[in-house]
Amino acid sequence: MTDPLPADSPTADSRAVDSPGIAANLARIKARIGEACAKAGRDPARVTLVAVSKTHPAAAVEAALAAGQAVFGENRVQEAAGKFPGLRAAHPAMRLHIIGGLQTNKARDAVRVADVIESLDRPRLAEAIAEAIRREGRAPALLVQVNTGAEPQKSGVARDEAAAFLRACREEHGLSVAGLMCIPPEGEDPVPHFRWLAAFAADEGLGVLSMGMSGDFEAAIACGATQVRVGSAIFGARPFPA
Ligand SMILES: *Cc1c(COP(=O)(O)O)cnc(C)c1O
Repeated sequence: MTDPLPADSPTADSRAVDSPGIAANLARIKARIGEACAKAGRDPARVTLVAVSKTHPAAAVEAALAAGQAVFGENRVQEAAGKFPGLRAAHPAMRLHIIGGLQTNKARDAVRVADVIESLDRPRLAEAIAEAIRREGRAPALLVQVNTGAEPQKSGVARDEAAAFLRACREEHGLSVAGLMCIPPEGEDPVPHFRWLAAFAADEGLGVLSMGMSGDFEAAIACGATQVRVGSAIFGARPFPA
């Protein structure tokens, strides 16, 4: 397979990629998703696995694609814009989710490259995304991120502002919001966070629930997750902090 990245791209490095390992990890995660769905009486076809490839080279994504994985998550727009257009040219069915906090001045790049933006969390960003959608003639699906743990360093709208923000997205910015995303605080039981997000989504009539990562995706599925974002359990430990 040819490397679609320029040689000086930060992700086009020559770190060895363990393709059989990635394929085995994917199979294992899919089996665990199947078991979690069976336990919860849910249809596994209703749970999308988002393979979080941030910090990993394009060759790792290629290995996952070769193993049948089509949906990927990246948290930085610039990294995604460097890695994905080349891959997508060769794999038109692949899908990219932007899952990281988004600066307003990156909204246009995000709208250009993403199929789903999971980190809509404030009015200025809603406005920038709406403007980018008009200009680009391309509309990624949008999820509102809720900072369920009220962590100051984390993106996401506060719980008690989330309903008003959803209304503003629809009514003031003309945006259609498909669902919600959260990242519970590290070291805390995630279940109350998952339950809160699921209940709030039901109140708001939102069908997409992005919650659960490598350490807690089974619990998230039990709480109703329709998308789980799994990185290290597929691609291994990240080589540098995301
Ligand atoms: C990195 C990241 C993940 C994946 O985390 P793992 O613990 O490696 O599975 C999921 N969601 C978001 C928002 C992330 O930034």
